[in-house]
Amino acid sequence: MSPRPRHVDFHCHLDLYPDLAEAIAQCDAERTATLAVTTTPKAFRQNLKLAGRSKFVRVGLGLHPHLAAQRKSELALFEALLPETRYVGEIGLDAGPRFFRSLPEQIDVFTRILAMCQAQGNKILSVHSVRTAGRVLDLIEKMLPSDRGRVVFHWFSGTKSEARRAAALGCYFSINQAMFEKPTAQELIQSMPIERLLTETDGPFIEEAGEPIGPGKVQPALRQLATTLALPFEETRELVVSNLVELVR
Ligand code: MN
Repeated sequence: MSPRPRHVDFHCHLDLYPDLAEAIAQCDAERTATLAVTTTPKAFRQNLKLAGRSKFVRVGLGLHPHLAAQRKSELALFEALLPETRYVGEIGLDAGPRFFRSLPEQIDVFTRILAMCQAQGNKILSVHSVRTAGRVLDLIEKMLPSDRGRVVFHWFSGTKSEARRAAALGCYFSINQAMFEKPTAQELIQSMPIERLLTETDGPFIEEAGEPIGPGKVQPALRQLATTLALPFEETRELVVSNLVELVR
């Protein structure tokens, strides 16, 4: 990847900021390698149109688990668009109280997306797994061996043993600042291999000082990650950039 990025925001909803073009320009100006995730296949083309010439922004084709039940008719469009990108997200499962009822449909959609990624090969996926880390791992293990695609767990909230299982399957983890609000965060992150760690904002859903976090603003997450790993900030920043370079190589 050249020029070399300064920061990594591997899960950001650039198209949910007021001005998508401005959000992309900001990532480019700050040299933040950003995965612009989308929530429906219908949103993909507009993102690609605006980010197509960006040096630092890549666009993921997504079908968010919160929308999977209503938008499963867009799976055909998903399949048609998939050859246009190496990046997939946001996809995954959510068994939290608000979405538990749609879990069977979510599993159907996620399974079909994994099968498409398996068939096409060489995709990099940003995966949501709220209260479903074990189920997501079962599906990845069954459907997407690491030589057919790479999985990045976005905002991983499973157990340490699930994190170790994900690592053994070749998965990465993108870490955001809100993850550190959990008292067990440090221990969980310390159980992940350091060569599999990335950063993310999940903007604009995370707030910083009462405002939605800006696109690419991973410095607070990096600072806490540095403390967790007992590494200097600059070394942590460089580690995350190197991990990304290795992931996309
Ligand atoms: Mn998200």
